[in-house]
Amino acid sequence: MKRLCIYCGSSLGRDPVYLEAARVLARRLAHRGIGIVYGGSSVGLMGAMADAALAEGGEVTGVIPDSLMDREPGHPGLTELHVVASMHQRKAIMTELADGFIALPGGLGTLDELFEILTWAQLGLHCKPCGVLNVKHYYAPLVRLLDHAVEAGFVRPQHRGILIVEADPEVLLVRFEEHIAAFELRRIGRSDL
Ligand code: AMP
Repeated sequence: MKRLCIYCGSSLGRDPVYLEAARVLARRLAHRGIGIVYGGSSVGLMGAMADAALAEGGEVTGVIPDSLMDREPGHPGLTELHVVASMHQRKAIMTELADGFIALPGGLGTLDELFEILTWAQLGLHCKPCGVLNVKHYYAPLVRLLDHAVEAGFVRPQHRGILIVEADPEVLLVRFEEHIAAFELRRIGRSDL
């Protein structure tokens, strides 16, 4: 894993536990030498997460649409900041650059990005690990909805399984590594080993 894409809120959330979790994850990634790609903004959890990784010497790449710069100013201290023409381009570049995707707590933008990357995995457009850091059970209602969708016959169990849900960042990263290793074994046709 060279680089992970982190989706998270442009707000901080009410409970400081979200901010702390974003910082902890960012520091863990920096210490492991895993770069971050994210939406490039300096506000909310997004900015705090980038600051925490940069402070530990981590590599942080931002991708922000030109049209958003007024509302969500681009972070001035990033390793690299791509200013792009559209939201679609932003998502495409973030997807391309990352070896996996983690959603921290966030709002509609975060949920949109998470669901898009899950549906792309469902369609087989990529095989990279997708997960949520379930800080203080933030994603529990969403997990319940997905389980309900499986029971109701709208989501196949194997597609529900695409989403990795963990509250501990270390456990989440280990599961990402396992996912990548299993995929690599399948890719080279040695899944029987
Ligand atoms: P939020 O989770 O709503 O605070 O937003 C987190 C990030 O997602 C922000 O950088 C938003 O600009 C971005 N965002 C909002 N809507 C979308 C969208 N439809 N597609 C991609 N990113 C979005």
